[in-house]
Amino acid sequence: MEYSFELGPIRPPSEASSLLIRATRNCPWNRCRFCSIYKGQKFQLRPVAEIKQDIKTARAIQDRIKEISWQSGYGGKIELAARMVLNNPPSAAFLNVALWLYAGGENVFLQDANTLIMRTNELAEVIRFLKETFPSIKRVTSYARSKTAARKKPEELAELYQAGLSRLHIGLETGYDPLLKFMDKGITAADHIKGGRKIVESGISLCEYVILGLGGKGMWREHATQTARVLNEIDPDFIRIRTLNVNNTMPLYDEVENGNFIRETDEEIIEEEKLFIEQLDCHSNYVSDHVTNLLQEIEGKLPADKGGMLASIDGFQALSLEERANFRLGRRLRIYRYLDDLSDMRRRELVEQAIHKLSQGNNEVDDKAIHTLMEGFI
Ligand code: SF4
Repeated sequence: MEYSFELGPIRPPSEASSLLIRATRNCPWNRCRFCSIYKGQKFQLRPVAEIKQDIKTARAIQDRIKEISWQSGYGGKIELAARMVLNNPPSAAFLNVALWLYAGGENVFLQDANTLIMRTNELAEVIRFLKETFPSIKRVTSYARSKTAARKKPEELAELYQAGLSRLHIGLETGYDPLLKFMDKGITAADHIKGGRKIVESGISLCEYVILGLGGKGMWREHATQTARVLNEIDPDFIRIRTLNVNNTMPLYDEVENGNFIRETDEEIIEEEKLFIEQLDCHSNYVSDHVTNLLQEIEGKLPADKGGMLASIDGFQALSLEERANFRLGRRLRIYRYLDDLSDMRRRELVEQAIHKLSQGNNEVDDKAIHTLMEGFI
């Protein structure tokens, strides 16, 4: 038997240990200027029978890992066999199932960019089949576009919730209409609110992604305030933060090169995040788990933790110019994770050496160098 099934290119950071089932291929919009993930790839709905076949293969891999557990003296303990298999998996799909089982075998993420575009009855059928095939499943999540959610009838979203769809991840990116237009997101702030509210009201958990820095030097203030306004109206369970990263596979790259879009510095982005958080008046969990974010410690439950989150920003801004420069580079080199890591002298010396090398002796690393380092993140 061939232990392999189709996998899409990405999943949210919070789904790193989830079973990945590709429900559709690529993105039906595919025009956002800051996104290169599916560029050049055609969107395709997959037949339900084909998706079910992948789920059956995932089940066969689980059964095989169970057999290995007995054969290797682990007495049927699937997590232990899964850990062993992680060292030498026969396929990417086998690795995904082993990782998932090792993590407890509870969460599933349906790929690719907008699963909600499937016919509601077909998506519900896939989710039900998934849960029948793996009774251990507790959470099923996927990506969706606000516009698609806005078009679904409330009873359709209720059907998906009943079938077992636990959470949708939406790329809100910004709530500022001129910026949504500039980035060719194909969505307005009103679409975001309508789609987001419908999901919240259906009972499906909602996670909205925001991109810090997306407004550039020209629109950062409106980006911060209007994004907060839209999120206050939606009141999603999660607000997840990413920071703009531009590389030459994105249409936005040309706008940066020809001067139509001027990127913010890290320090300006932190000022933007401060304004954004100040304006938030909702009950969401604020999460900064993306590697591109300078201050990953800015997390908490709103509104209770708002003061602490702003205090983290104040903590960064109160550092000396030299310490801030050291931290920024250390973050981008992945030497530091949190601000507190600055007190680790060994790491700090490593960063100082890197600054010396990158600046060719003058001890100043410019924003261009920082942006180049960030390109390696995506
Ligand atoms: S909708 Fe999402 S996946 Fe599609 S192009 Fe835009 S950001 Fe990329």
